Amino acid sequence: MSVAVIRDLDALRRQTAAWRKAGETFGLVPTMGALHEGHLDLVRLAKSQCTHAVVSIFVNPAQFAPHEDFDRYPRDEAGDLAKLKRVGCDLVWSPDRSVMYPEGFATRIVPAGAAEGLESDFRPHFFGGVATVCCKLFTQVGPDIAVFGEKDYQQLTVVRQMVRDLDLPMRIVGLPTVREADGLAMSSRNAYLTPDERAVAPTIYRVVSQVAEAAASGDVIAAAVAGGKADLEAAGFKVDYLEVRDAKTLAPLTTDPDGPLRVLVAAWLGKTRLIDNIGVAHPLHRGL
Ligand code: AMP
Repeated sequence: MSVAVIRDLDALRRQTAAWRKAGETFGLVPTMGALHEGHLDLVRLAKSQCTHAVVSIFVNPAQFAPHEDFDRYPRDEAGDLAKLKRVGCDLVWSPDRSVMYPEGFATRIVPAGAAEGLESDFRPHFFGGVATVCCKLFTQVGPDIAVFGEKDYQQLTVVRQMVRDLDLPMRIVGLPTVREADGLAMSSRNAYLTPDERAVAPTIYRVVSQVAEAAASGDVIAAAVAGGKADLEAAGFKVDYLEVRDAKTLAPLTTDPDGPLRVLVAAWLGKTRLIDNIGVAHPLHRGL
């Protein structure tokens, strides 16, 4: 049997109410489809913590600017459903645009705090669109947990902050980034890379790893960041940002940071924008 796909909100609510009545738990994995092993690991994690795993597939127009890749974003529902069946997904929530944003829809969540800087400096519309659709998905599905990837670390932090700020009765669970054998973070957008770009792409992981190692061993962080940017540019990237931030709040570093840090990067390779990040659990601080 194939995975059940629901596109209608009443049918979704009937299913989740039946699970609740039976005392069963369920975890939600929000996605935009074009699924890869990273997404499938999120489903496995949801399944390991709850009776049921629900995957939403919705390419959210509200988080794309008009000049971005909404129209050419990869879509493969049949392939996605086959993969989800393999990992034991119980239900796919795949609303049409008119179900998510019906005529007259006019409310938007505006996250601040962790949403400030980094991605927002280059995609100012992005986290408003993400927070709005996630809040809707959470109230539509009503899960016990929602699972997100550290691959989109700022997004994970913004969603955690929203759930806390709005007292949503659920828990956010993060999963470490799933990578290709050469270190490149798996991403639906990797499909845009030409073979030559694909060969260069793992440089982005090498650079965040180097900056993280420098921070961990007490090197001056600004020097490590400048060196990392130069390495990326030499490899053919155009860098949007390469920054080291507080891992919990994503606040910019103060002169005397304490606690874990996160190195975050976004850079273009040709027409493809890649992001990555890595943690520094126990930084040695000798200078910024
Ligand atoms: P997307 O479909 O790209 O919006 O991503 C849906 C979810 O999958 C988000 O929580 C992402 O952070 C997560 N995700 C995407 N790529 C990876 C990866 N390589 N490893 C872990 N999680 C990922």
